Amino acid sequence: MFAEPIKEDLHSCLKCAMCQPVCPTYRVTRMERNAPRGRVQMVKKYLEGDLSLSGGLHDALMTCILCEACSEACPSGVRLDRVFENIRMELYEKFGVGLAKKALFAALKHPLLLRLGAGMGRLGQRAFIAPLNLGWKMGNIPLNRLGRFNSTSFRRQIGEVVPAVGKRVARVVYFTGCATDLINEHVGRAVVDVLTRLGIEVVIPQDQVCCSVPVFLSGARKEALPNIEKNLEVLDRSDADAIVVDCATCGGGLKKHIPYLMEDLGLETDRARRVAAKVRDVSQLISEMMDKLPLASASSGRTVAVTYHDPCHMVRSMKVSKEPRTVLAALPDIRLTEMEGAGECCGGAGSFQFEHAELSAGVTSLKKQNIRATGAQLVATGCPGCMLTLSGNLYEESDPLVVHTIELVAQRIKKE
Ligand code: SF4
Ligand code: SF4
Repeated sequence: MFAEPIKEDLHSCLKCAMCQPVCPTYRVTRMERNAPRGRVQMVKKYLEGDLSLSGGLHDALMTCILCEACSEACPSGVRLDRVFENIRMELYEKFGVGLAKKALFAALKHPLLLRLGAGMGRLGQRAFIAPLNLGWKMGNIPLNRLGRFNSTSFRRQIGEVVPAVGKRVARVVYFTGCATDLINEHVGRAVVDVLTRLGIEVVIPQDQVCCSVPVFLSGARKEALPNIEKNLEVLDRSDADAIVVDCATCGGGLKKHIPYLMEDLGLETDRARRVAAKVRDVSQLISEMMDKLPLASASSGRTVAVTYHDPCHMVRSMKVSKEPRTVLAALPDIRLTEMEGAGECCGGAGSFQFEHAELSAGVTSLKKQNIRATGAQLVATGCPGCMLTLSGNLYEESDPLVVHTIELVAQRIKKE
């Protein structure tokens, strides 16, 4: 089950510990079992038959955030991300997942169920959470800071094709992801607004489904295949110039993790690689066309300090970090201020923050310190997951507001 070529990587580990200082879970716990080197050695021992697939091994490996910082730091080229993704499949086969995650997987596989769940969530928010304000939390996040569900699916609201404003210069497919479709409609509207004003026709396939990253990164690789196949069929049939994402997790999944998953499972990868080659974060597209963006003029004396947080899946899976900064720095009334450790994980990692709340809080606390030290009024980022974690944890009066980079662009273009 563990892909043979990836097994080879384990022999390249020199136990040099260069990966330790970059690991968020090691920085918090200072324990070898929560560090990349320790985790790699445990996997090696298991594959050599010296360690069984025990509950302890499961905990050590499932408390990894999959942030990929260790893979980037390793001088021997050990692909730790792929090692961990492979071993998770074996852990999943043996231990499965809890009820809450099973329900989540079922919903992510069935768009109607997902929309039904979102509708019920919205009802709950309006009927209980907002009026009663009981101070309940999910993981470390107060329920009233989880973000409001959209009244209807963003994709349904906006339709299949939004024409370019003026002369069409390009055509893109917009993979909205579940977060924009069901929660962050304001982000989706900003993407469509900005791209169409740049002369780009935006096609939003109504039959796209969840990217399934939360499913397959939990180890349920085979369960994720129907969604993966569906999305590849939808995205590959288009002759668009690019496939645009506003979510680092969807982007990282389509760009990197899905082709790897298919390769590891011995499946045909041509289509996955064709799609991956076209996937671009929205900031990449905009940074190339900044000179065409109809920006409003600066209004003197109203400059806002903005700091940027790099989502793990954007900075490492997609290798995008310069472009959002280029975009932000060019916007009127914005002063970009760098935080220490901008590329370090925010501690969210999807369901990790709910399953390992204490460890997640430790990682988030380092990020909060770095954000607060900048004195910025806004934190911009490019991942709905990071937005949820950061806005769910930054709620002191003096804390900055959390926004998607594209929202700032949309706010600063001239209104027609
Ligand atoms: S940096 Fe690479 S070689 Fe060094 S301990 Fe970590 S995984 Fe092993
Ligand atoms: S992927 Fe991130 S959390 Fe996991 S071992 Fe590597 S650095 Fe640590």
